[in-house]
Amino acid sequence: MNLEAINLPGVDTKRPLVIAGPCSAESEEQVMNTAIQLAKNGCKIFRSGIWKPRTKPGGFEGVGVEGLAWLQRVKKETGMYVTTEVATAKHVEEALKADIDLLWIGARTSANPFAMQELADALQGADKPVLVKNPVNPDLELWIGAMERLNNAGITQLGAIHRGFSSFDKKIYRNLPQWHIPIELRRRIPNLPIICDPSHIGGKREMVAPLCQQAMDLGFDGLIIESHCDPDAAWSDASQQVTPDVLHYILNLLVIRSETYTTENLNELRAQIDECDNALIELLSKRMRICREIGTFKKEHDMTILQTGRYTEILDKRGAQGILCGMDASFIKNIFEGVHEESVRQQMEIINK
Ligand code: PEP
Ligand code: MN
Repeated sequence: MNLEAINLPGVDTKRPLVIAGPCSAESEEQVMNTAIQLAKNGCKIFRSGIWKPRTKPGGFEGVGVEGLAWLQRVKKETGMYVTTEVATAKHVEEALKADIDLLWIGARTSANPFAMQELADALQGADKPVLVKNPVNPDLELWIGAMERLNNAGITQLGAIHRGFSSFDKKIYRNLPQWHIPIELRRRIPNLPIICDPSHIGGKREMVAPLCQQAMDLGFDGLIIESHCDPDAAWSDASQQVTPDVLHYILNLLVIRSETYTTENLNELRAQIDECDNALIELLSKRMRICREIGTFKKEHDMTILQTGRYTEILDKRGAQGILCGMDASFIKNIFEGVHEESVRQQMEIINK
């Protein structure tokens, strides 16, 4: 890819590049109130969605073009750069006309090559930085492909935003981070800036700070964080927004370590371990769900919970498989005894209900 550094005079080139602002522009007052507080705390780039992709119809879909004038006011009165999400050629046209400084492309849009091509065509020749969120599904090629389309249209100031990936089971995270994907992106395109969006990964205020730190420890270049003057009253994503003052506090507490080859490698490996542990927990919980279904079946058919033959079969089969995979037989036995014990406990709950 033909890349140039993102050119925003006056913005510190030291890590992290910070972009902050509300999920959505709701009113001129809310936008200005939030922007003034963020600017006072040293923020240089203001984000705000005006066209909002919503999972279901009937939600707040953004104020639309009206919000562009509010962003222009932010620019004029605070001196901050401004950015908004574009998802159609029409959005691009309006945003360019309003001289929005940076554009970002959302996760639902980057997953769609037709939409990406439409945006690339509309952006042809525009001298603007464009940030591309990862597609909702964990597909690195699709993410890179989206950026390649823009690059082929002459956009050289590109950045990637890691906002996590959708999953059926919402557990700790709103969108699973799967850190190995942005890490692989860094390996594939080393000079592409990568920005982390802890707000959409965590989905909860209290997760913003630890996710920011994790992103910094993994060598991310920047952070895009949702901040609202009155988070509880936000019209979208209320639970993950923080006030400008809380954001200031979070940023001040961040430890920015210098990148050394060895720590980066270690962190990369640790991220992979976290990924494995996450997958283990999710698989175990899936297994327990199936066990509970079996419990219901046994109850309906008056069967005993403990079917010893089946238990021995599991221990034998998995023991042999574990040895083949280079693990100690007693280690595998311990794990499966634990798993079995919890499965029986969960079935007992069903049967005694
Ligand atoms: C957003 O940044 O407000 C947004 C809609 O994000 P995403 O595309 O990551 O869901
Ligand atoms: Mn949001």
